[in-house]
Amino acid sequence: METGLIPAVRRLISDDDRVISATMIEKKYLSDALGRVIGRAEALVFPVSTAEVSALMTYACRHSIPVTARSAGTNLTGSTVPLTGGLVLDFSRMNRLLEIDTETFTATVEPGILLADFQHAVEAHGLFYPPDPGEKASAIGGNIATNAGGMRAVKYGVTRDYVRGLEIVKADGSVLNLGGKTVKDACGLSLKNLIIGSEGTLALITKGILKLLPLPRESKGAVVAFSSLEAGITAVNPLLMSAPAAIEFLEQKVVALGEAYTGLSFPLSGWATYLVLMYHGESKNEIQERLQLAESIANDAGAKDFFVIDEVESFNRIWQIRGCLVKAVEAVSEQEPMDIVVPINRISDFIAIAHQLEADSGLRMVSFGHAGNGNVHLCLMREGRSAEVWEQDLKTVMAALYRAIIGMGGLVSGEHGIGIAKQPYYLENTAPETIALMRQIKAVFDPQNLLNPGKSYQKILV
Ligand SMILES: Cc1cc2nc3c(=O)[nH]c(=O)nc-3n(C[C@H](O)[C@H](O)[C@H](O)COP(=O)(O)OP(=O)(O)OC[C@H]3O[C@@H](n4cnc5c(N)ncnc54)[C@H](O)[C@@H]3O)c2cc1C
Repeated sequence: METGLIPAVRRLISDDDRVISATMIEKKYLSDALGRVIGRAEALVFPVSTAEVSALMTYACRHSIPVTARSAGTNLTGSTVPLTGGLVLDFSRMNRLLEIDTETFTATVEPGILLADFQHAVEAHGLFYPPDPGEKASAIGGNIATNAGGMRAVKYGVTRDYVRGLEIVKADGSVLNLGGKTVKDACGLSLKNLIIGSEGTLALITKGILKLLPLPRESKGAVVAFSSLEAGITAVNPLLMSAPAAIEFLEQKVVALGEAYTGLSFPLSGWATYLVLMYHGESKNEIQERLQLAESIANDAGAKDFFVIDEVESFNRIWQIRGCLVKAVEAVSEQEPMDIVVPINRISDFIAIAHQLEADSGLRMVSFGHAGNGNVHLCLMREGRSAEVWEQDLKTVMAALYRAIIGMGGLVSGEHGIGIAKQPYYLENTAPETIALMRQIKAVFDPQNLLNPGKSYQKILV
């Protein structure tokens, strides 16, 4: 039965078909990409303008209605699950590329524009947007709200490094512009940087002004084989001297899952671990020199094969296999994806601990990730376990893994965010004073606690 909320929301939105009432909301809009936790909402709304978002938020504020933002819903942490009802605002129809400004090397976009569409659009102008998380069907709004990283962060940094300005709608419905098109900004507190990575808990992002670079003229890559994961990981730090744009590591067992999932074949086989290297440069010579340096470093580190990828098509195939791995693991077993990050010189220590825990617990783990950033995706696989045993094993093993990470100076999440999936571990492993300060900041931005309640640094609700 429709409550009074639906007619009120319909009055604020120009088309009725952009307002969906509780019983008609598809489950995917109440969850994340994994779909394990399903929330509840009284209405799902697809705004198309800042004015609509502002009107909706003003109404929500006046009536104390919780609001959960989503852009493409690809997160893996439950951060788009509406835990306390209210409105889900889906930004997928606010997806315009508003401007490419070649004079300031910036683009202005709405939050729902898909990453892949945005990357292609700027590349058509000879420009380049480096942040490149594995999920290209994610949207820029979600990338900003999670401070997404991805493959090329080793050379270019993460989403935060490419956000020059934001237009936001605050919890009281007012619209605020933070930052702008300038390269530098030394004015007051950086509120823009508080919003980036805040997982929809501080404000709604309605526009982003993003920094662009000239598109690299040349790019080429290589796959390097090693007889063990430890050997491959040990080679990563020396290889950083060849200034790669990306260094990804993949174990053979996860490559096999990726091949089965995509039907594509990886260029090398039969070795325990591979590093995939990518180089960007201004000339063929520059790339050649980097590849030669990388080959000599890899050989010194005990590489078993160094395969230069000449064809674009082969390279795309490798990235397709790399990009699908979370889904490839999920296709064979329910899994818990971790995206821990440790200082770059501690990855092999972390992997050794993970292997020991795998042997001790019998819980199968596959790992891959952004070796050049110390950012490891570790998937813990349920396989045949009952729900009860799975939950217990997972708790024990994850608690031990997170303790080890924190002991190494690492963090619970390198790029996916906290959401609800990592919340207990994040709260347990973070100084209470830090969490208290974050909650005070939240109270200033959102005194009624309407925006994405119960996520990340907030009190656990599930
Ligand atoms: C297969 C796979 C591979 C991945 N690989 C990587 C990787 O390599 N590197 C990496 O960094 N990440 C990776 N991710 C995570 C990915 O970066 C996030 O899923 C993505 O950035 C979220 O974007 P989205 O548009 O889907 O956001 P959503 O999932 O819709 O939302 C994510 C968060 O942002 C908030 N939000 C969304 N829109 C707004 C808005 N307009 N205003 C305020 N808050 C908002 C939501 O409330 C939520 O908290 C991967 C995910 C998958 C599924």
